[in-house]
Amino acid sequence: MRDIAKFIHGFKRFQDSYFCGGADEFERLRSGQNPRALVIGCSDSRVDPAILMDCAPGDLFVVRNVANLVPPHESDSSHHGVSAALEYAVRVLRVEHVIVMGHSSCGGIQALMRQDCAQAGEYLPRWIAIGERAREQVLGALPDKPPHLQERACEQAAILVSLENLLTFPWVRERVEAGNLLLHGWYFDLERGELLSYLPQSGQFEPLVAHCRKD
Ligand SMILES: [Zn+2]
Repeated sequence: MRDIAKFIHGFKRFQDSYFCGGADEFERLRSGQNPRALVIGCSDSRVDPAILMDCAPGDLFVVRNVANLVPPHESDSSHHGVSAALEYAVRVLRVEHVIVMGHSSCGGIQALMRQDCAQAGEYLPRWIAIGERAREQVLGALPDKPPHLQERACEQAAILVSLENLLTFPWVRERVEAGNLLLHGWYFDLERGELLSYLPQSGQFEPLVAHCRKD
């Protein structure tokens, strides 16, 4: 029960900041939202994009799922939650940026690399398999590296798979080619507190905000 009390107190503090004491931060947001970026992040409790980027309500349209994966465009009768959110962000809200935000020590990517989610349930293995191409690439390029380095490489390679999958949606590709939409691959290193970004020129993830520890 203590956990729930913590969340209720947290909402009270949020209410104080945004609705009480003369402040009315929601004035502008009551009539609608106009976020400029969609973030596709991992469900992991340590990597909330709004907290990581110090954003306020209304700043980010966010989809979170296991291992921050974007599935390819598919026309079938399944329920496509990520694709629906992508469609809304791109076609209705007309965001200018899509950020796929991966992170270090990702349990979803570990499960993909170790192939140990077969018994983990009904949905996880099939979901994680979206990143299979990343796994194969890493095993091909770094067959002798220790698992933690292979997993880190796969966390980053899976971001690129998601960026490629984004371009399989015709209305994403159209807006990217018209210069109205920018795609970003970001990687939060939670061990070092560092933010990396994929640079197509170098084919590498390079620091966007370098770590601040003196080591
Ligand atoms: Zn994760």
